[in-house]
Amino acid sequence: MQHLIVYGHGARDSGAVGSGTNERDWTRKVLDVEMQKYNQHLQKNQLLFYDKKRNMFLDTCSGGGAYQVAKEIVSVTEIHLDAAAGLATGGHVIISNRVTANQQDLAIAEVVKKYAGWWQKVQSTAGINQRGDLAHCQIFAQRGISYRLVELGFISNPQDMQLLTSQVASLASDLITAITGESLTEAVKAENKTLQELINMEFCYAARNAIHYYNGREVHVLGANHEFKVIKDIYSQYTEAATGERKDMLVFDWSDNMTTVDAFERMVRYNAEKDIYELKNFRYNRETKKTR
Ligand SMILES: [Zn+2]
Repeated sequence: MQHLIVYGHGARDSGAVGSGTNERDWTRKVLDVEMQKYNQHLQKNQLLFYDKKRNMFLDTCSGGGAYQVAKEIVSVTEIHLDAAAGLATGGHVIISNRVTANQQDLAIAEVVKKYAGWWQKVQSTAGINQRGDLAHCQIFAQRGISYRLVELGFISNPQDMQLLTSQVASLASDLITAITGESLTEAVKAENKTLQELINMEFCYAARNAIHYYNGREVHVLGANHEFKVIKDIYSQYTEAATGERKDMLVFDWSDNMTTVDAFERMVRYNAEKDIYELKNFRYNRETKKTR
């Protein structure tokens, strides 16, 4: 079954601006990366994406957009971020006042609640807000296609955006499951494993005057001390995202007159002995000085 995802606004219309981003770009550049990743794991369903370069609302206004969505599309989910003065918080799901909330609408509302919480005005309506004044709500209700507009949280509230952005991968997988009804447990496990594997492969080592960073595929000589700090910080963030626990990257000190090659070869042996890293598929080619 095919479900259409529409990111709100687009083209020259950025939507609301706040927390260092805007609706158009956050949905298309931050959320979409994860949506695409999990979409590949769906077995029975498929997500289609409205042309991300376009603004569906403007297309609707000129007779396209909502009027031209194929009848075969089972549901349409349009994703926005809310904005208000002050520190309003939480998200909600908007549907037409001509329909009642279906299982998917309610499931999506539960996902909204899990991340930025529910907006104050929908706390007694299970996260659902019925409206009669939005063109897309009315057009899709008339056409008999399931449609909802999701406000994930307030872009004007940095805390809402922090909650959404820092957990964007699980937000995307939860949204996809709510929209399609299809479980992504295995896909989530697979993606987490990839992250975990990457973490297991990463380390730094100090050799002579430079710090070297191995990212799981190749060695980089870090040009400046701040690069080392940045890489260590990112590593700690990744471990926290993958395991819930913040860890420091391992750093080995081989500054005792060892060449990079020697240090690296010792590193591989070290790993084989201690069985700390998964370096089974790793090879270092002395001639090309490349690893893989
Ligand atoms: Zn919007």
